[in-house]
Formats: sequence, C-alpha cells, structure tokens
Amino acid sequence: MADPVNPFGKARSFIVSRERQNGVPPGVAPAAPFVPAPVGALSWLVPAGKSIALGADSFDDRAGSSAPGPGRLPAMPHLTFMGGRILDKPKVVNVFVGDYWNTDQGKGDAAHMNGFVNTLGASGLYDMLSSEYNVGRPAYLGNVVIPGAVTKIGPDEIAAAVKQAATSGQVQGGDNQTIYAIHLPPQALLTDGTVDSSQGLGGFHGSVPGADGNPLLFSAIAYGDATNGINFSGRDVNSRDNNTITLSHELAEAITDPDVATAQSWDQIGYYDPLGGEIGDLAVNDGAVDLSEAYARNKDGYAVQIEWSNQDARFEMDRARPPKLLTQLASGPVGTKLSSTEAQLPISFAKNADVTKVLLNLSLINPSGRAPQLRLTSPSGRSIPVPVPAVANFSGPLDITDRGVQGLSAKGTWFLSVVDPNNTGMILSSVSMKVEGTSKEPANEQP
Ligand SMILES: [Zn+2]
Repeated sequence: MADPVNPFGKARSFIVSRERQNGVPPGVAPAAPFVPAPVGALSWLVPAGKSIALGADSFDDRAGSSAPGPGRLPAMPHLTFMGGRILDKPKVVNVFVGDYWNTDQGKGDAAHMNGFVNTLGASGLYDMLSSEYNVGRPAYLGNVVIPGAVTKIGPDEIAAAVKQAATSGQVQGGDNQTIYAIHLPPQALLTDGTVDSSQGLGGFHGSVPGADGNPLLFSAIAYGDATNGINFSGRDVNSRDNNTITLSHELAEAITDPDVATAQSWDQIGYYDPLGGEIGDLAVNDGAVDLSEAYARNKDGYAVQIEWSNQDARFEMDRARPPKLLTQLASGPVGTKLSSTEAQLPISFAKNADVTKVLLNLSLINPSGRAPQLRLTSPSGRSIPVPVPAVANFSGPLDITDRGVQGLSAKGTWFLSVVDPNNTGMILSSVSMKVEGTSKEPANEQP
C-alpha cells in the first residue's frame, strides 16, 4: 500500500491476508463471516470486498469486480526502471534476533537460512534477475545472533538490530549494498504501522541511516507458520520453506529497489510497476498467483518465490531459455552411380533440434528424363517424398519443409532413397542436406 506521507516510496509491506492464506481469493468478501482457524486468534477482519493486500494501486482495482483466480493475471505486470539505485554487488548478513536462535531447533533453522543465502546468488532465480534487471548476485557475508526475549519487533527494534549487527565486528565487508536480513523467532510479531504478522504481514524492507551517513539496508521477515507471517506451504506447514520464500521476496526487492523507503521522487526508485509495486509483490500481494504456486524449489533444494520476468512475461524461478536456432549441414556419399535399382544414402546429424526447415541440395544425372523417385526417411522412420523435376539433369536445392518434416527430431541418420526401376543409369553426383531447427532446454518451474 502506498504511504500517504511518501507517495514515491515506502515499499509496500509484503502482506497476504489470513483469508487468502486460508483459500479465499483476494477482493472477494467471504460469503459467510470469516471463521478463523482454531489455532491463534484473528482480531482483524476484511472489510467487505477488500482484503488488506489491496491498496489503490493494486491489480484488483484494474480488474474491476472480478477477482483473479489462481495463476491468472488480471493485467500484465511490467517492471520499469525508474532511474534510482539498484545493487550490482549486493551482500547479505543474516541477523537472528531472539534467544530461540541459540536453541537446538533455532540453530538448525539458522543453519538452513545461512545455507540458503550462501547459495542463492548462484541459483536460477538470479540467472533471471541479474540478466534482466542488471542487478548483481547476492553474496553471503555471515551471520549475527542477537539474543534476548523477543515477542514483538517493529521498525524501531529493526533499526536497533541492524545497527547492532553492523557494528558487532562479527561480519566484515559491509557497505551500502549490504542487506541485513532480520529474522524473528517463531511467534514473535512483526509490526509495520497498523499491520502485524498475525494478520499476514510476511516482511518488509527498507533502510536506516548508518553512522557514516550511508544507508544500512534491511529486510525483515516474520517466522512463517500457521498463525504468524505467511504460510506458503499450506496444511503441511514447513516453516523453513516459508522463511526462505519470504526472504527471497524481500531480497529480490531490496536488490532491485533498495532505496524505496527513503525515495523522494520517482527517479530514486529502482525497478517498479506503478500499478503493482515492487517485484516481489506482483505475484503474491495482489493474488495473481495462488500461494501454493508462487514458489519453486531451486537446484539446491531451497524454496524461493517465483518472480516476474518482463522478457518471458511470466512469473518464474529459472529463466525460460529461448529456443535456439540450429543449422546443420551434412553430406551423403558423392558420385554414387546407381547401377542397381535402388540406393540408400545415409546423411547423419549429431545435434538434436526440432526441425523447422529442410533443404536438400542434390545433383542428379538422369539420362531417361523421367520423373525420378526419391524418398527421404527420417531417423524416426518417417518416409518423406522428395519431388525432383523430370529433367535429364537436375542440380539445385529442394525445399522439402512442407512435406511433413516439421517437428521431427534432426539427430540421427536420415536415408535418401533413390529408385531407378529401369536401371537407366541415374547418377547422384552430390547430395547435401541442411536442417534448421530449434533446440529447447526446459525451464525448471516445478513447485
Ligand atoms: Zn514486497
């Protein structure tokens, strides 16, 4: 939601209403009074026709009264570079606040988050983000544990934790591209203005002034479970997944739009969709994608939020690799004199491609001048007629694309069969074949 004080910035908090987490689409008033799940009290209710995630700048308003369904976009998002700072050398420090992180379970959770951040920069998500939005890949600088009894953390406590971590001496190399990722313990409330994590606030990012005047960037996330923060993983609550997904959302935003919280004009904003907000918000805040479809598991096994790609016009974890055009040329045996009634000439291709075009270039001496009978057999066994003009001598390319070759796999051995039933002395003096095709590598999009 836009901050009335600062129309340019204040990152919209990452909020997914409890109602939506329980399966009620955004923008739709529950048909019956909302009954909170038995675990945890919910004091906050959605006004009729509104959910908390929907501000004046939301997708829902663009879509009128029709609510978007899972996986369906009410309008096409587009991230525009506004002229502000983006991070080309982002760094991340994990800051674990609370005594929980010194317990055995807390240490396990912290190790999971440290491993996640340590590998995130090399993941497919950053193949997309770095190539498309010109940002750097996050490097992991280390972690700091700040013990204490913690039940509630708001912007003031976050600022104190960031400064404490930055001056702790426990991590080296911090600068104005360093993001302090603040992790709350389970059940601790994250608050931002009038909203808190019991209502579905997952996290937010911003900055606090450092001692040298440079901003100290932060991303703060609630510990996501069935009653606090955001529960992406549904009934089978997996808090570690919830937390890596939520942190990936905040880090993607902090890296593509680090100064949103202090911006005084649009040209201090990084990548932004004026209608939908920052990159992480496009999939989840406005209900474009069902929560269970808003994340995927990367090659290291960590769950991350899928993010909007302008180029691929979809939410993705891995860049969709565009089809690659391959051209391959192969030649058959030359100077083949057809002294018998049929010859089979092998033409082999090493690389695979889905065939889009085939040109056969041949020279045929045909003393009879009768229509020669040529057939091409694909590696998969498809028999394709090759029309050759009925002339005494033919030399030139034959485009046989429209003879049923499209979509065949190029790789393997094709056979050109030349039939001379009357043994008239045909000579195939040269033959070559050119295949154009596309090579696709499937994107990894499995949730
Ligand atoms: Zn966000």
